[in-house]
Amino acid sequence: MKGFEYLQKNIYMGRLPCGGDLLNSLTDFAREKNIRTGQVQVIGALQRAVIGFYHQDQRKYQSISFDKHLEILSLEGNISLKDGKPFVHAHITLGDEKGNSFGGHLMEGTVVFAGEFIIREFEGRDLSRVYDEETGLALWNMDRG
Ligand code: ZN
Repeated sequence: MKGFEYLQKNIYMGRLPCGGDLLNSLTDFAREKNIRTGQVQVIGALQRAVIGFYHQDQRKYQSISFDKHLEILSLEGNISLKDGKPFVHAHITLGDEKGNSFGGHLMEGTVVFAGEFIIREFEGRDLSRVYDEETGLALWNMDRG
C-alpha cells in the first residue's frame, strides 16, 4: 500500500445551484479554483439521479436512473487529475420517501434540488489517473505524479 502526504489548504463551503448537474457543478468548481487534490462532501436533495455500478467481470459501468425526488444522505468524493485537469470521483448514498437508502458511483444526469457542499483543498504532489489494466478503471498512478 502506498500513499502520499498532503497538507490542508483552503476549505470551501457553498450551495449547489437548483437545476444544475451535480457532478458537473462540482467539477466546474474544482476547475475554476484549480483544486488539483482534495475531498468533496455534499448533503441535500435531488430532482433525479443517475448512479453507476461497475461490473468487474465485464469491466463496464451499468448506469441506473431514478426519475424521482431523493435525499442526498451523503456524498463522499475526491479530486485528482485526469488528462491534466481536475477531476471529481464521487459516490453517493440516496434516501427515498420510505426511508430506504441505496447508492453508487455518481454519474452525469443527476439534477440538484438543493445542496450544500464542503470541499477541502489539499496541498502536495499531483495525483493523476491512468488506465489500469488489472481493473479496467482509471486509477491513481502512485509511481509518478
Ligand atoms: Zn466510483
